[in-house]
Amino acid sequence: GMKQRLLVVANRLPVSANRRGEDQWSLEISAGGLVSALLGVKDVDAKWIGWAGVNVPDEVGQRALTRALAEKRCIPVFLDEEIVHQYYNGYCNNILWPLFHYLGLPQEDRLATTRNFESQFNAYKRANQMFADVVYQHYQEGDVIWCHDYHLMFLPKCLKDHDINMKVGWFLHTPFPSSEIYRTLPSRSELLRSVLCADLVGFHTYDYARHFVSACTRILGLEGTPEGVEDQGRLTRVAAFPIGIDSERFKRALELPAVKRHISELTQRFAGRKVMLGVDRLDMIKGIPQKILAFEKFLEENHEWNDKVVLLQIAVPTRTDVPECMSPFCALSPIYTLCDSTSMSAGVPQMHEVHEIVGRINGRFGTLTAVPIHHLDRSLDFHALCALYAVTDVALVTSLRDGMNLVSYEYVACQGSKKGVLILSEFAGAAQSLGAGAILVNPWNITEVADSIKHALTMSSDEREKRHRHNYAHVTTHTAQDWAETFVCELNETVAEAQLRI
Ligand code: UDP
Repeated sequence: GMKQRLLVVANRLPVSANRRGEDQWSLEISAGGLVSALLGVKDVDAKWIGWAGVNVPDEVGQRALTRALAEKRCIPVFLDEEIVHQYYNGYCNNILWPLFHYLGLPQEDRLATTRNFESQFNAYKRANQMFADVVYQHYQEGDVIWCHDYHLMFLPKCLKDHDINMKVGWFLHTPFPSSEIYRTLPSRSELLRSVLCADLVGFHTYDYARHFVSACTRILGLEGTPEGVEDQGRLTRVAAFPIGIDSERFKRALELPAVKRHISELTQRFAGRKVMLGVDRLDMIKGIPQKILAFEKFLEENHEWNDKVVLLQIAVPTRTDVPECMSPFCALSPIYTLCDSTSMSAGVPQMHEVHEIVGRINGRFGTLTAVPIHHLDRSLDFHALCALYAVTDVALVTSLRDGMNLVSYEYVACQGSKKGVLILSEFAGAAQSLGAGAILVNPWNITEVADSIKHALTMSSDEREKRHRHNYAHVTTHTAQDWAETFVCELNETVAEAQLRI
């Protein structure tokens, strides 16, 4: 029969678009696992709707970009600079992102944010309506519409108001916080009611799903059931769909000559030392200072390790104009500000703070020939990243809050031969799935993290192998592809069941 059509709606299209002339665009599609999962669901004809990340004020440019994107199965939503400022930088990244990660409003401009709240929320709703308008233009009866992330919480309502028969799913890529945190949001009820217009609502973990259901019961007074949330006989299905990666893509990369060359270079460079790896966006939620302080404590207490271990910390700047960053998450995700980094205040003081601690520790424990921490403020290309994942002995993930954390999955996928140890924060969604194989830690407890570093560095090969086997089995069998297929399938079933009840 006809293929199921799927419209994926996300804030960002998985492309970077550069204008080359009045009607000329060059496009680079991000090759990440998530993108291929969403555009490549089995037996599904998928298209992607979102903002291209550039301001295109003129009609000639808009038409040319639309044409160029169509070849990549992408459909643009055009947002002007003012709306991007208020909706994206403002409401999404200054209010929802920190709140969903338990950070509250940014300290330094708390009152300004409070005062501007209403105009930013209005811009958010207007922007969501602009996404909805593009969906209407491309919608055909029977299509599945999958809305992504905290940028588009108002979209399910816009879509169902237009046509109650649309099949609408919404998935959140961040944590959903405890209702005690969520209820501080001035627009709390309106947003919940809009999300509940979807037929299926998905989260990475059961905890996030449970937090969402209890926010609905406490704030809206609705009934929560094991199936979801009920409102006057109508059920919104709520469930956990833990995301995965395209593990084969990483395994294939390790076979490439370029990656093998990287691997042997790195092996030579760090011969005689154990290597620990951190890969994070430079964001408050990643707990980079906590990680480095724990490493310092480990060095303090274990002098015999001073020359024998090195921490490589990759701190990826959170900006759109970093060309190397072609990860799947650029498409869907978080704090990619357009403005210069000073207005997005979260990252910058953090960078100074991290540099200061790194400098102190290297001064304290370094020798004439070696320093204990290599800290890089940059992104890496895919091949260099795979090589690092493969050669390092320990990966250290100390997120204070993290929706899932794919870095931990990618590390496991690349450790087939080395069987390195994963130290993983219990506050990352990944702790729910990799808990059996990883050493779980509370990143706020630097004594515990320092002890875990020692445990990881001195672990017997038997134990390493056993732990690795657990993680590897999970990462290779719960892929991004499975995730996307399961969500779309569940959405179709949910709608079919609802029709039976009528
Ligand atoms: N990544 C990247 N370039 C880099 C370092 C990392 O594209 O230089 C990718 C990495 O492969 C991973 C993603 O960035 O897929 C980070 O995802 P994660 O879920 O760990 O955290 P997020 O940044 O989405 O909060």
